[in-house]
Amino acid sequence: MPQISQETKEQILAATDIVDVIGSYIEVKRAGPSYKALCPFHNEKSPSFNINPQRQFYHCFGCKKSGDAITFVREYENLTFIDAVKKLAARAGITVTEEAFDPKEDKARRQRGRQLDLHRETSEFLHKLLFTREATHARDYLKSRGFGKEMAERWQIGWMPDDPDVFLKWARGKDYKRGEWIDSGIFVAKERGGIYVRFLGRLMIPIRNEHGDVIAFTARQLREDPKSGKYINSPETILFKKSNVLFALERARKAILNENAVVICEGQLDVISCHEQGIEHVVGTQGTAITPSHARLLRRYAKNAIVCFDADKAGILATEKAFRVLSEEGIPVRVARMPAGEDPDSFVRKNGADAFRELQANAVNFFDFKIDRANAENLLSDLQQRSAFTRECASFLAAIQDTVSREDMINHVATRLRTGAPELRDAVLRAARGAKNKPPERVRGDAPPEPEKVEVLEIEPVVAYLCSLALHSAAAQEWLGEQFETLHEAADHLPGIPLLELILSARPDATSHVAVNSFLAGLSDGQRLALTSDPTFHDDPPENAVAAAETAIGELSAKVLHRRDQDIKARMAQPNLPPEEMIRLLHETKRIAELLKGIGQRFVFTDRFAPSRKPAPKPFQRRNPPSSGPEISP
Ligand SMILES: [Zn+2]
Repeated sequence: MPQISQETKEQILAATDIVDVIGSYIEVKRAGPSYKALCPFHNEKSPSFNINPQRQFYHCFGCKKSGDAITFVREYENLTFIDAVKKLAARAGITVTEEAFDPKEDKARRQRGRQLDLHRETSEFLHKLLFTREATHARDYLKSRGFGKEMAERWQIGWMPDDPDVFLKWARGKDYKRGEWIDSGIFVAKERGGIYVRFLGRLMIPIRNEHGDVIAFTARQLREDPKSGKYINSPETILFKKSNVLFALERARKAILNENAVVICEGQLDVISCHEQGIEHVVGTQGTAITPSHARLLRRYAKNAIVCFDADKAGILATEKAFRVLSEEGIPVRVARMPAGEDPDSFVRKNGADAFRELQANAVNFFDFKIDRANAENLLSDLQQRSAFTRECASFLAAIQDTVSREDMINHVATRLRTGAPELRDAVLRAARGAKNKPPERVRGDAPPEPEKVEVLEIEPVVAYLCSLALHSAAAQEWLGEQFETLHEAADHLPGIPLLELILSARPDATSHVAVNSFLAGLSDGQRLALTSDPTFHDDPPENAVAAAETAIGELSAKVLHRRDQDIKARMAQPNLPPEEMIRLLHETKRIAELLKGIGQRFVFTDRFAPSRKPAPKPFQRRNPPSSGPEISP
């Protein structure tokens, strides 16, 4: 595993605010001293996802995910640790140096890195060519579509010459191997040896990943040639997976969050036109239908989607598919009604940004779109056609995951189709059941990783409380560090002691959230969960943390004595015990009883040690025990 030095990691975490980081992905709300959000890792209606800005730590009380800013980025974006660190480093303007390499992983990373370099250099070179004399017709084409030099620069539009030698000569001068050029998809290997350039004589539009790196190209024909497509894309490569990439997402992210919606178009030029007109919450599919991966990618940013496809038959089919896929991922879909014969590009150029915005504002829900079309085609007057159409609507309604929205929509559709809501609801249920029996439509390698079953380490509540104190109060940590003997003795009787001992020997600086979080990150999932699942972990330590620790150690000792007492009594109950052994055991129970009397007065045992979240009682505060004596829970 490649490593990032602890120093660099700490530097990055110190320069990062977890609330900012998480807030750039999901909506967070202040709640007293901390922040709350709807958990992005599990489905929920009321927020149980907490961010503690002092500790720079998040924790979900629902699904128990927790960690620091690096963990969040890693889990949310499904990145490797290194990539998550790099991402935060870039945000904070810190250079990351890696140590020690794993040869295999390193090779894959180097390949990716070289492909990214290759694509970047190619894009820069082709962009330069666009401004040469030979590319006048390419610039004229852009002009004819209303684009000037600024647009070409902003999107780094390029030109691939008709003459392959221009590009070949440049490529030969570069430090990439033949195999790398072929892997990039820019060159294609001929069957009988030799290679050729894939996109000759075309306008080159770079496709970027979410981070803004060029990972592929889409190339538009500049001269009519019925023998090849108007647009060709790069093939799938190690960088480019069509079903995972949305065009212009890297530019649209912020606007999508601001507008609380994403507009989805089909063509890259549609998207560019919208952005150029200042409508920036627009992304495009790469000439494919929306996939579940796209939907999951969008769900990170968008609460709502507006589909804005051509008004032709293909566009309508794409709209239906988009509705199904997005609904299944929980994104409500509306449809912008494009006038016949227009696409977003032509529309926005002809009518301007305001008209386009109005088109989005007037977007209708998917079912109104469908029913209006069916009415326009006079499909609903015939009884048979009408019932087929109702069934079709039911199958779309079944895709809506949110039960409240689904019910609303069932009523709405029933009213519009003048059919009974109960019948429609039955049809929806039938459709839902049918859909469940179908295998889910997923691209290979596309399924989210199965959550691993984590064995939570067993821990005694009082031990968990001591761990919380040791992690969050330097004084308590120091004091507890001197209680090694007591703890060692307790280890045989109470679960979780080794974890407390681990904290006390690692001694993470309790005044530094970076140190504490980095200690937590080094634990196993089961150990970490044992700590974060305890409610006291999320509270600030009491003012007098040492006194609280003393009190808790007192309870811990009492518990140990009590367990020992139980063990002895169990042994005494055994038949045929030699008399001398019986006497020894009796002595021991007596001694334990005396010891318990000494400490027992101070503690009332509860099932769960949650010291009422107030400063701990002073030792020996409770001078008059309740007449029934201390309650001791097993
Ligand atoms: Zn959760």
